[in-house]
Amino acid sequence: MVTTPQEPVYVIGAGPGGLAVAATLRARGVRAVVLEKSGAVGTSWRGHYDRLRLHTTRRLSGLPGLRIPRAYGRWVARADLVRYLEAYAEKHELDVVTGVEVHRIERAEDGTGGWVLHATGGRRLTGRAVVVATGFNHTPSVPAWPGLDTYEGDLVHAREYRNPEPYAGKDVLVVGIGNTGAEIAADLAEGGAGRVRIAVRTAPHILRRTTAGWPAQRSGILVRRLPVGLVDLMGRGLARFVSPDLTPYGLPRPTAGLASRVRDGAIAVQDVGLVAALRAGKVEVVPAVEALDGREVVLADGTRITPDALIAATGYRRALEPLVGHLDVLDARGRPIVRGAHSPRHAPGLYFTGFTNPISGMLRELAMDAERIARRIARTKPKPKQEQRQEQRQRQEQK
Ligand SMILES: Cc1cc2nc3c(=O)[nH]c(=O)nc-3n(C[C@H](O)[C@H](O)[C@H](O)COP(=O)(O)OP(=O)(O)OC[C@H]3O[C@@H](n4cnc5c(N)ncnc54)[C@H](O)[C@@H]3O)c2cc1C
Repeated sequence: MVTTPQEPVYVIGAGPGGLAVAATLRARGVRAVVLEKSGAVGTSWRGHYDRLRLHTTRRLSGLPGLRIPRAYGRWVARADLVRYLEAYAEKHELDVVTGVEVHRIERAEDGTGGWVLHATGGRRLTGRAVVVATGFNHTPSVPAWPGLDTYEGDLVHAREYRNPEPYAGKDVLVVGIGNTGAEIAADLAEGGAGRVRIAVRTAPHILRRTTAGWPAQRSGILVRRLPVGLVDLMGRGLARFVSPDLTPYGLPRPTAGLASRVRDGAIAVQDVGLVAALRAGKVEVVPAVEALDGREVVLADGTRITPDALIAATGYRRALEPLVGHLDVLDARGRPIVRGAHSPRHAPGLYFTGFTNPISGMLRELAMDAERIARRIARTKPKPKQEQRQEQRQRQEQK
């Protein structure tokens, strides 16, 4: 592939999002360099718990320019996805530099319209554009429960959970019922924990992964452009077919509609074992955690329990503030104000991918965003030298 001699486009993060952008840029003859803070591509998938499989189908989860091999089955296992990402970087001959963490991004002062990246070891790298693909699940987040600092029990974030082995025979409290909490609770119940409870603040929408062979993801794709209110209404109508009634087990059907909850940041839970575990009495639902007190966990109804271990499946932060917080490109929740092919008006050439949590599957969205971003960057011509010099002069005068 022929590349241009200009400054490269820097892509920050070698997860699926960053790799997809680099591959689509390269396919258009744009030089792209991926900077990855860890030692390998697909780091977040290397670190997930052992039994994790994609809950989106193989066919709807591949990245541009390479299908996920058929041999990996319909629901791709975690380790196979890592293999796929390695093969993806190799097939597209991507320029991935590992061990380089980008700390801060700034506008180049030379009038080129480019960007300067401050990275590991005092590096200053200048790119014609930057794509931030540092991940939705960047930094584990645990609520600031009163008593957290002095809690005497065993507490880990879900990111540290691998398999049920260390919990054999133990009394475990999983906090949070997103996809991760739900699956860890099921894994513990199936894997020999003595007692498993799951603390729930708001009952989620729990969907069957497939209904009569039809994957929930396909429904998500069909409705993703429809108005939220309409999708909520359709969801209510279909609820008894696509989501089991778990009211007798402490999980009443949510009052807020499915699409409204997704809009507010709570994706529906795809059932991969929790429902069976609840019905078998192997997982018990308890109220949300309010505080920690010595060895005790205080629940929202005032009950105090003393589990042997507490696993906080309480989510992640985007943690974009140190990188781009000073550029006025984040909203009040710390999410980029733009996505895909759009750059903020006051920060042209700065792109973001992977900071939404779509109903239709994140990998699919990452693949589509990659094409859009690459198309836009490939079309954007660098400013003529004369214009660059003029802008540089203006900046210096303003100082
Ligand atoms: C448990 C779990 C299951 C999921 N299952 C599915 C599924 O079935 N289907 C689906 O479509 N989606 C799924 N997702 C959502 C999404 O597809 C994945 O999170 C995916 O890995 C996102 O890719 P990404 O490239 O945006 O981020 P990541 O995979 O998180 O990659 C970001 C990369 O950036 C690097 N990085 C971060 N900061 C810096 C920095 N400052 N400098 C340099 N490098 C940096 C990180 O080390 C990492 O390698 C799941 C997510 C989770 C957490």
